Amino acid sequence: MAKLILVPTPIGNLEDITLRAIRILKEADCIYAEDTRVTRKLLNHLEIDQQIFPFHAHNEHKVLQQVVERISGMNQAVLVSDAGTPAISDPGFLLVRECIREGIEVECLPGPAALIPGLVASGFPCDRFVFEGFLPHKKGRQTRLKALIEEERTIVLYESPHRLIRCLAQIEEFLGSDRQVAVARELSKVHEEFVRGTATEVKTHFEKHPPKGEIVLLIEGKK
Ligand code: SAM
Repeated sequence: MAKLILVPTPIGNLEDITLRAIRILKEADCIYAEDTRVTRKLLNHLEIDQQIFPFHAHNEHKVLQQVVERISGMNQAVLVSDAGTPAISDPGFLLVRECIREGIEVECLPGPAALIPGLVASGFPCDRFVFEGFLPHKKGRQTRLKALIEEERTIVLYESPHRLIRCLAQIEEFLGSDRQVAVARELSKVHEEFVRGTATEVKTHFEKHPPKGEIVLLIEGKK
């Protein structure tokens, strides 16, 4: 029976690939990847010689049926993204949904995803949380932020360094300047950093030290 396996890959530190992920990548009939060059580098590092086919945000809708048909004729196909768990703010959801509709078994290996280490080390409650992914850049951004005003669970966002200060200013405006936040930057990488404090304190910090790299933004829920 055909199976699609989603394989999480490191979000920085290459040691964070699991033994099972390596075995599944070796055994796969076919690997679909967000950016084949990024995945080729990882496979070279792991000394895995496999063919890689593109499956990314730009071709997701177009190639969906064709990819599902190919997977249905295989034993085991793998989907990876550039980093972390496929389908988490990455391509993959449409493929998972379509495979399930077509009776193809779907499995996701446990593994790296930036939101989890960011959340757990933020110091905010993590028994209940809400993952908002990336907020829209323009249209709908304020509506999404306003919808979080009464949220009592810890809020997890992905944010680009270019928009971080603006986002912190919007948190001050909509959720209050004394709302506790944490910025988890460059998780698992050499320059990993956590900056914790009120929205105003953290914004002031990044105004003095312009943010770089990849960021998970955590916001404590309303008390
Ligand atoms: N699929 C990935 C996952 O499972 O986390 C997320 C992919 S999304 C396109 C990329 C975003 O994830 C980045 O912009 C950043 O917000 C977050 N991210 C990825 N790696 C990170 C890291 N090492 N440190 C902090 N945030 C990271």
